[in-house]
Amino acid sequence: MENRSGEQLQPHTSHIPLPFASYQLWSQFEPALGWEDTHCQMQRGLRWTQAKSSSPAAQGLPVQETIWQKVGKLAQQAVYEFHQNPLWLKHPRGCERVADRLYLYYEIAVVRDRTIQIIQQYQASPFLFGQDIIVLNRGDERLPQPIEIHVDNDSFQLFAAFDCIVQSSNLQLQIIDFKTGGADPDLRQAEVYLLACSYLYPDRNVVASFYNLETMTSSELITTNVASLTETATKLAQIAKLHQQQLQDYQLDPTCFDRLFPAHSGSHCRYCQFSYRCDYAANI
Ligand code: SF4
Repeated sequence: MENRSGEQLQPHTSHIPLPFASYQLWSQFEPALGWEDTHCQMQRGLRWTQAKSSSPAAQGLPVQETIWQKVGKLAQQAVYEFHQNPLWLKHPRGCERVADRLYLYYEIAVVRDRTIQIIQQYQASPFLFGQDIIVLNRGDERLPQPIEIHVDNDSFQLFAAFDCIVQSSNLQLQIIDFKTGGADPDLRQAEVYLLACSYLYPDRNVVASFYNLETMTSSELITTNVASLTETATKLAQIAKLHQQQLQDYQLDPTCFDRLFPAHSGSHCRYCQFSYRCDYAANI
């Protein structure tokens, strides 16, 4: 797991004996539909170890963010800042205040311009305005408290970092995950959040949705049932166990890194956060 700063956030296994999982880990194991050609297991290996650096100086460097990851992170921070300072939603210089708070003028032009556009759009049409906000995160917080999930004879720690939860009616909570860019949201993320909420709010009816801050469009409401929750928990338990086993195997024998986390190089290496320290990065 990592926060939106790209900082690797590893649970201290000495304090967390159970294997752990998250939506991010699931997506690192298995690509979302339509992204199979660009999926590379070595990204997961590099993310979770400090291996394969051809340059000793590169070891220990933070993970580099892509432009769209940076924009997504800043967009969520902007929403957070607006709702921490609701007067800015109506203030003629509200967008500037938010941009200052995000140190946006230090960002490269493409990031700054896209984020400013999102900020201006949000001020003009603030999606959360008037909603009963239960949870709103800035996106750069440390790891959330893990939730201990039990399924069949397995247990694991689930990390679910919600962007936002609102009380949509007396009986219903709505999880909202903010998106930017044009890619379709991955429904597995909603499934993981709904699983987490089934433990955090067992007496509430919870639905999930995605809201794209660039296109200002909201997805359909996503619901679940006991069978789907069990299926998701079972899948995450398998992933948690396998990931933990692979990390242990790597620690015992670092030379097996390439076998545990096989590379799949291609044009997508150009956008890979690890290309600067990956021996398999396609030369494009
Ligand atoms: S640079 Fe390419 S091969 Fe290396 S980890 Fe990234 S996607 Fe995989």
